[in-house]
Amino acid sequence: MSDQGVVVIRAGREKAIRRRHPWVFSGAIARVEGSPADGDIVTVRGESGEFLARGYWNSRSLIRVRLLAWDEDEVCDTAFWERRLKRAIDARHVENRIYRHGTANACRLVNAESDGIPGLVVDRYGDWLVIQALTLGIDVRKMMLADVLAELLNPAGVYERSDVDIRQKEGLPSHTGLLRGQEPPDLIEIDENGRRFLVDVRTGHKTGFYLDQRANRATIGDWFRWDEKSDQRVVLNAFAYTGGFAVYALGGLVQRVINVDSSADALAMARRNIALNGYDTSDEDFVEGDVFQVLRAYRDAGQSFDMVILDPPKFAQSARQVERASRGYKDINLLAFRLLKPGGVLATFSCSGAISEDLFQKIVFGALIDSGRDAQIIQRLGQSSDHPVALTFPEGAYLKGLLCRVW
Ligand code: SAH
Repeated sequence: MSDQGVVVIRAGREKAIRRRHPWVFSGAIARVEGSPADGDIVTVRGESGEFLARGYWNSRSLIRVRLLAWDEDEVCDTAFWERRLKRAIDARHVENRIYRHGTANACRLVNAESDGIPGLVVDRYGDWLVIQALTLGIDVRKMMLADVLAELLNPAGVYERSDVDIRQKEGLPSHTGLLRGQEPPDLIEIDENGRRFLVDVRTGHKTGFYLDQRANRATIGDWFRWDEKSDQRVVLNAFAYTGGFAVYALGGLVQRVINVDSSADALAMARRNIALNGYDTSDEDFVEGDVFQVLRAYRDAGQSFDMVILDPPKFAQSARQVERASRGYKDINLLAFRLLKPGGVLATFSCSGAISEDLFQKIVFGALIDSGRDAQIIQRLGQSSDHPVALTFPEGAYLKGLLCRVW
């Protein structure tokens, strides 16, 4: 037995572990035997000594152990990490199919806990891999993991984007930089469902692009494609970032997409991406400002749209912020309902894990009632298939959306 310590679970607190939830909080621990260093593999046992699971230890995190294996014979050596990485990569059937039949080359390859590798995100952008080490247990192994990834996928380079706030909860500073191979170019051009985008993996949001919205961009972008009046449809793309939804909507033959974002840099990149896909751009289609204010101004001016897309940043960072976040979501959804033409479509999202799908629907319902409009849900939206959610880890589901027809 090569594990560096034994974590004994308090009687009655083994249930979640037996149910394969991957987190062991400090309060569930009776005692620690041996003196594991942070990041070491530990065995997790019940009070009567029975084996429960194996995982990596971090004394500095409230989540003291992230569980990796529930089978006593499964040793967490390099071959283990290799098997897990390979399993995650090979499982991307949809993405693999897209790659084989087209030129698409961007997707999430490893989705942390939900892929059995707590704390590790790996995204592919063209020939580069971008990884995020969200926990100490991954941070101490990142060079080994980068080596395994390099061997499995032969990328031009592996770049790290571990500049995320949650690392503080693990006692880790931010870190970004090249781990293996060549430096990525300033902008990597990716192909997503046949659309092209420029991605800045060094400073872009997340690892550079909102890969989790890929399927929704395709759904929403095609919405007016078979509509006789598609060429008269005007879409308001609020929280536009680098124009993901805009490029798809223009490909769906709409007349015009107005992009609103508070970041001038994001809008400049949106404009480049739209042009890169062969669509005309004009200054009026890019509005730099606060969505809350811009929507109010449109309302006051009596403007209306055929589709409004609301894809805001995470309003609730934690359970404590749910109430305030709910008011924010309600506000923008209320304004959006008022701005839609009869028969128009609202595509509204929340990426706050702390806001459940059920609560989100209630918030949108509240906004509808206050708007005096009528609406029906025509489709429920979630994160793309390369962002799977392990059934044992419901916390992995964070992105939810509703596609509503509004009268
Ligand atoms: N829909 C995009 C992702 C949106 S990310 C895609 O598919 O790629 C959220 C965006 O909202 C970011 O670009 C951020 O700059 C912008 N943002 C955050 N708060 C804002 C606000 N109050 N008003 C306008 N834009 C805001």
